[in-house]
Amino acid sequence: MPPVYLDNNATTRVDPRVVEAMLPMFSELFGNPSSGHAFGVAAKLAVARARENIQALVGAAHPDEIVFTSGGTESDNLAILAALAARPGRSEIVVSAVEHPAVKTLCTALAAARGLTVHTIPVDNAGRLDREAYAAALSERVALVSVMWANNETGMVFPIADLAAQAKAVGALFHSDAVQAVGRLPLAVAATAIDLLSLSGHKLHAPKGVGALFVRRGLKLAAQTVGGSQERGRRAGTENVPGIVALGAACEIASAGLVSDTARIAALRDRLEAGLLARIAEVRVLGDRDNRVANTAGLAFAGVESEAVIRLLDRRGIAVSSGSACASGAVEPSHVVRAMGVPQTHARGVVRFSLSRETTAVEIDHVVDIVPAVIGELRRDALAPAA
Ligand code: PLP
Repeated sequence: MPPVYLDNNATTRVDPRVVEAMLPMFSELFGNPSSGHAFGVAAKLAVARARENIQALVGAAHPDEIVFTSGGTESDNLAILAALAARPGRSEIVVSAVEHPAVKTLCTALAAARGLTVHTIPVDNAGRLDREAYAAALSERVALVSVMWANNETGMVFPIADLAAQAKAVGALFHSDAVQAVGRLPLAVAATAIDLLSLSGHKLHAPKGVGALFVRRGLKLAAQTVGGSQERGRRAGTENVPGIVALGAACEIASAGLVSDTARIAALRDRLEAGLLARIAEVRVLGDRDNRVANTAGLAFAGVESEAVIRLLDRRGIAVSSGSACASGAVEPSHVVRAMGVPQTHARGVVRFSLSRETTAVEIDHVVDIVPAVIGELRRDALAPAA
C-alpha cells in the first residue's frame, strides 16, 4: 500500500492540471505584468483570467475585488490592519476563540501595541460560537470582526452570513478567514455583508506561497506593503505570476467539481468515522457532526497522546496531524481543543484526519484497519506496569 496522506488541512498536493497551467509562466510567458510589451501583456492577461476564476469560486461581484497575496497569513494580516485603518475612531476587535494563529497572534500583538480591546468569543463543546456573547460584544466601538468560515482542526463551519449582517448593523467591518472553506463549501460573498475574505492556494491543490484577499468594492484598503502600484495600489510587489495562474487554475477546477467532490469526500469521511467508532472504544468526534466541512474528522481518543499516535501511524505510512500543523511543536492540547472544553481524558489524544478529492475508499479502509491496532497498542503500553 503506498503512503496514505490524510493531512490535507495542513496542505494539499498540487493538482497535475495546475502544474501544467503554471509551467508556461516560467518559460514562454515569463513577462512582468507591468511591462507594456507583448511579454508583459500576456502575463497581465493570465493574471486577469486567474482573478476571474477566484471571483467565480468565492461568488464575488467584480474581479477587482480580488487582491493577490502570498497566502492565508498575509491575507489575514492585510485584512485586519487595513480594516483598523479604515475605522480610525474605533478601538475594539471581535474574534472567535478558535481563530488560526494568523488572526489570533496579530490581534494579541495589536492589543499590546495599540491598546486595542480584543473580545474573544467562546465556543461550546460542539465548537459552536456563543451567539449571546457575540451580540453583547458588538457595539459602535468595534472596528472589525474576524471569524473564520471553517475551523482548521475540527472543520466546524460558522454561520458567517448571519454574523456579518450583525457586524454591519453596528458599522463594524467583517473579515472571514476562509482558508479552510474555499473550494470546500459553496460561497457567495456578494450576497452577504462580508467586507474581507482570505484564501490560500495550498489548501486547494495550488502551490504554497500564493493566496488572495477579497475586498468588497468601496472599501479603501490601506496597503501594508508599499512600493509599486501593483494590485491597484493595494499590495505592492511584482506579481507571483506562476503562483497566481496556478491559484486561478485550482479555483476553476474546484468550482467545476465542488458539488460532486464534496459529496464523495463527505461519504469517505463518514465511512472513516463510522469504521473507527465501531472498532475503538472511548472516542469522541470533535464538533457538531452536521455542521462541518466535508473533509475533516477531528477525533479525540481517550488514554493516548496524539503525538505518539501520529508517530506510529507515520511509521505505517499514514500521515495525519494532531491539530494545527502551522503551530505544531507544542505538546499541550491546542487552543481549539481547550476552547471546546474537551474533557481531560480525551484532550491529549486529538487526531485530525483531513481528506481531499484525491482520497480513495481503499485508503480509508486501510486506515480503518490500522488505526485501531495503533490505539490498542498505545493504550496497552499506558496500562503496562513500568519495568
Ligand atoms: N488560516 C487558516 C484557517 C489556516 O488553516 C491556515 C493554514 O494552515 C492559514 C490561515 C495560513 O495560511 P498560509 O499557510 O497560506 O499562510
